[in-house]
Amino acid sequence: MTAGVTLMGAGGRMGQAIVRTLSDEAELTLAAAVTRSDDPVLEKDAGDHAGVGPLGVMITADLEQAVATGDVVIDFSSADVSATVVAACARAGKPLVIGTTGLGDGAEAALTEACASIPVVAAANTSVGVTVLRHLASRAAQLLGEDYDIEVVEMHHRRKVDAPSGTAVVLAETLARARDLDPLADVVHGRSGAVGPRSRREIGVMTLRGGDVVGDHTVILAGPGERLELVHRAQDRSLFALGAVRAAKWLVKERPSAGRYGMADVLNLPKA
Ligand code: NAD
Repeated sequence: MTAGVTLMGAGGRMGQAIVRTLSDEAELTLAAAVTRSDDPVLEKDAGDHAGVGPLGVMITADLEQAVATGDVVIDFSSADVSATVVAACARAGKPLVIGTTGLGDGAEAALTEACASIPVVAAANTSVGVTVLRHLASRAAQLLGEDYDIEVVEMHHRRKVDAPSGTAVVLAETLARARDLDPLADVVHGRSGAVGPRSRREIGVMTLRGGDVVGDHTVILAGPGERLELVHRAQDRSLFALGAVRAAKWLVKERPSAGRYGMADVLNLPKA
């Protein structure tokens, strides 16, 4: 039996990538596609818009009706609407994968409330490779110990407006926890001027920007006489869609109890 997906943000780049991924998927189909009410793609067929041919699912702005239609909701839209999406899913009792980033305090509070009644996979990076990188980096930091300095370097395309990437922040937090450091106070963003020697208690996070790089993240563990580097390179936006669809399948198949989950739960990895 196939389950139906309600897709929030169907007009966007990630929304289209998810429609393309679903078109190759046996266990899930697109049931409803939502965008904002002034989007020019409104009333277009979601499959046509994503370049996979007509699917008979017209893009709508009716969030409540769309959420009621599907068995699981995938949201890659805008942080402005996240609180509304999360509350609609909770009211309808529909599990949710939320990939939208930059959630503010209001959306985070709505998410916490919703997680009391529905299961939610919330992931600022739905890549399977990045999830495994996080796990390996955490383990490497523990195994190598405090003689090995940790730095995180990220590079993205020239159009990216925020820095560092949400993924670099999450990697630094994970590494800080692995070393019993403070994820806020012990993380250093960029260095310039007479900053003095590096302290043992710091994790450096450095940002590079240029060209059309989809997203590179490197964790460096530099110790006496050697250096270990763990590198993830995103080559195509579809990897995020594949991970989000995998998370939706996990919600449908495993039927986890209400609560907040991450991609590590989807991959059955120990908590980082
Ligand atoms: P985009 O701007 O191309 O698409 C966003 C879509 O959301 C548009 O179709 C827009 O019309 C729609 N939208 C905006 N407001 C809406 C509303 N009120 N109701 C319904 N739809 C609304 O952006 P994108 O590149 O597709 O990214 C979307 C989100 O996903 C961003 O937050 C981005 O940071 C995040 N993202 C997450 C991951 C991940 O791995 N979790 C990967 C890539 C992007």
